[in-house]
Amino acid sequence: MRVQPITNNIYVNKNINNRKADVISFQGFFNQAPSITDKFKAGLAALDNNTIFVVTRNKENSDFYLSRYIDKIDIPVHKIVTLEAPLSDDDKVPYVKDNFVVYKKDNQYKLMPLDSGYSVLRFYKNSHSLGEKIKNGEVTSIPYDSMIEIGGIDIKEKYFVFEDIKYNPSLADKYLKVNNNIATPEALARFNSQAFISINSHSDKQDLKTGGKQFTFADVGGLDDVIEECKKYITRPIEYPEAYKNIRLNKGILLYGPPRCGKTLLGKAIANEVGAKFAYVNGNEFKTGTVGSSEGNVRQAFDKLINDAPSILFIDEFDSIGKKRDGSSNARYDDSVVNQILGCMSDLEKNDALSFVVAATNRKDLLDPALLASGRFGVHLEIPMPNEEALSQIFDIHSKNKPFGDDISKPALINMMFKNSFNGSDVAECITNAYFNALERLGMYKKMDAKLFEYSDIAKIKISQGDFIKSIEKIAKLKG
Ligand code: ATP
Repeated sequence: MRVQPITNNIYVNKNINNRKADVISFQGFFNQAPSITDKFKAGLAALDNNTIFVVTRNKENSDFYLSRYIDKIDIPVHKIVTLEAPLSDDDKVPYVKDNFVVYKKDNQYKLMPLDSGYSVLRFYKNSHSLGEKIKNGEVTSIPYDSMIEIGGIDIKEKYFVFEDIKYNPSLADKYLKVNNNIATPEALARFNSQAFISINSHSDKQDLKTGGKQFTFADVGGLDDVIEECKKYITRPIEYPEAYKNIRLNKGILLYGPPRCGKTLLGKAIANEVGAKFAYVNGNEFKTGTVGSSEGNVRQAFDKLINDAPSILFIDEFDSIGKKRDGSSNARYDDSVVNQILGCMSDLEKNDALSFVVAATNRKDLLDPALLASGRFGVHLEIPMPNEEALSQIFDIHSKNKPFGDDISKPALINMMFKNSFNGSDVAECITNAYFNALERLGMYKKMDAKLFEYSDIAKIKISQGDFIKSIEKIAKLKG
């Protein structure tokens, strides 16, 4: 199964057990229904003869079981609406504990748990378990009222779901659970502590676990041509392997170019686009200091890559292990690692597994020419410093959901960034810094320190042109 989140609450379903499902976009719809309960009701309302509604507290888990049990759903599945449900360790409040699918057939709601083993669906309303005990993958009819209870009606009275994290990047990786009212001093104190449990219906929740967002090509700015090449060499062959039978695929792709312009980001996006496993390794990590074990590490990584297919191994700082061999005794260690990589790449190429190695370097000139040959890393894609158009795209990507004031003149900012040789990372940093400047300028830091910061203050935070200019100047100075 390949189910990929493209944005909150939306999955693109390309292929579930060889069934094709359409792309569905419910974002606007869900945005208009901000509480968990409303989202749940909205999901139910969206059900028709070929739509299922997946409610999940653990996306990976539910994806896994959905692919296993989708054949038990006795309607054709063309669309999937998803909602990440509240998660709580507190049994006293209403919440949905298990992953499940809801669909509608003959005007009846059907429910199927998506969890491991014999699953007890623990749905609570005012501390009462509805007591449904259903085997994983079994389908049960259930009345609409119970559905709503499952969705956690009244939940908004118990919880404040802090959805507008966009207003505060420093909270971007945290979600909030507070009783009743966030604006109380006590709630605010908790607001600033680390002790929050994530409960939001937000796909980024899993980032807390993985430490990395689920990037897609839409998150990569200014590299359309390179993305097209990545589709050609990697993602289309993974998505449509039948179309590439008997074709010798290029298993090694080299991304090269200056630091912080999106090489790693692109590697992650490639993997996420097609639901492939992604492993990141810094070239230096292969090194153990002793001849022999480094080669073992390389071999192990390649074996795992093939085992995990479809998969992508991203080797960062490739030059640290792929330096030109010079045959001297000093270089014996490095040379043997290069030889091992060459051997592994030959094996990988012969293997039918849809596994690719994407290597990244800032110093292509240091690499051993044999590594750059066809059949090894024969595809070389340059990730250059962004030009103004690329900076503009990167700026748009990173400024999504940021509170900009009316005086922002984007062309002037982009031009200033270009003149100061900003890379992609500088653009992202610049927006965060500009936000901090706004907080300071608007006296929010003082309010926070005096515990006077109110929820209503968040809406007052707007980044001005001056905040940006200050931020660009600061970064330009740091760059020297
Ligand atoms: P290095 O060579 O130092 O490993 P890199 O080229 O792999 O750098 P990334 O790690 O991909 O660079 O970029 C760092 C961060 O900068 C990204 O996570 C992203 O936030 C931002 N960024 C860089 N380039 C882009 C881009 N083209 N589009 C959007 N964001 C970008």
